Amino acid sequence: MKNFYDFTLETLTHTLEAEGFKAFNAKQVFQWVYQKNIRDFEAMSNLSKPLRAWLIEHITLPQLTLHSHFVAPDETTKCAFVLSDREVIETVLMHHNYGKSICVTTQVGCNMGCAFCASGLHKKTRNLSQAEMILQVQGVIDLTGIKPTHIVVMGIGEPFDNFDHVMDFIDTVNSPYAYAIGKRHITVSTSGLAPQIEAFGLRQTQVNLAISLHAPNDALRSKLMPINKKYPLKTLMKSVDHYHTLTNRRVTYEYIMIKDVNDSLKEANELITLLKGKNAYVNLIPYNPVSEFSFECSEPAQIKRFYDALMKAGINATTRKEKGEQVNAACGQLRHQTLKEETHGLKNT
Ligand code: SAH
Ligand code: SF4
Repeated sequence: MKNFYDFTLETLTHTLEAEGFKAFNAKQVFQWVYQKNIRDFEAMSNLSKPLRAWLIEHITLPQLTLHSHFVAPDETTKCAFVLSDREVIETVLMHHNYGKSICVTTQVGCNMGCAFCASGLHKKTRNLSQAEMILQVQGVIDLTGIKPTHIVVMGIGEPFDNFDHVMDFIDTVNSPYAYAIGKRHITVSTSGLAPQIEAFGLRQTQVNLAISLHAPNDALRSKLMPINKKYPLKTLMKSVDHYHTLTNRRVTYEYIMIKDVNDSLKEANELITLLKGKNAYVNLIPYNPVSEFSFECSEPAQIKRFYDALMKAGINATTRKEKGEQVNAACGQLRHQTLKEETHGLKNT
């Protein structure tokens, strides 16, 4: 039996054609599942009897199990899902003035080991399948009744370390026969895997790219993000330049503001030098403290000074209000909490 949610429209089309069915049948099945929310092949009334019988015999529609969820006062909803091998992942629904976004996890744990991040506290045990990413979206829709207008691939894990499944996932959420979320409404965030940034530019030219920068020089960035030793700033920026040539898209740089670590005007000026003349946008994010680390969030006045320096130098920036702080929404924090509580034998739902 194959998991339906592991198919892209293309692979389902090929599979059905190989079985003697028509290409448009794949579109019909996609619409039933993703748009009409029907998970019973028997109920797909415009499909022929033989096709329905074939689907029942060969394809399953398993769902993720919701372990727990929290809703913050700003209605940010954070879900912990259990996978079939009992691993726990997390997914967040955020409400913005421009729409609703779902933040999707791509790996069980993360191997990048960033010094400030709760996800990195748990080493990667495996990549998620396309199905497990799609089913996070479906699980949030089932729980809340809300259809997302945007997808951000910024949950636990390094998306470019699970490149092929993430690309398939993007194709499926974007498909007009599935969730039909426009490519410009999808954002992938990476810690800076240079070769995949170029590969992404070749494949997903309209999807937004965010780079987790967090430091404007190699010494500090290597301390905060070990991946910088493999792909230092020069290599990273070269790959981004290439991405830009391929796509002509503006790149967002995420910069978490950590008190007395990366938030002085010295770093602001280095950041200006690094990004000057590039089609760049800087997202200044207040650091969300993680109890295992001693890092603190920068003072609001310091964030403002940093922001003003960038803007004055002509670098576009925003200061992002962290959504869902009340539900431990930063990367990996609910999963980390869940695993900690399970270790201590506490129940979390
Ligand atoms: N691995 C990818 C995507 C997931 S992390 C990446 O690193 O880009 C999503 C974003 O959350 C990254 O920019 C990451 O640096 C940031 N982040 C991680 N821990 C955080 C914390 N405690 N507070 C604020 N942002 C955090
Ligand atoms: Fe992994 Fe991203 Fe967290 Fe770094 S910030 S440990 S790459 S999830």
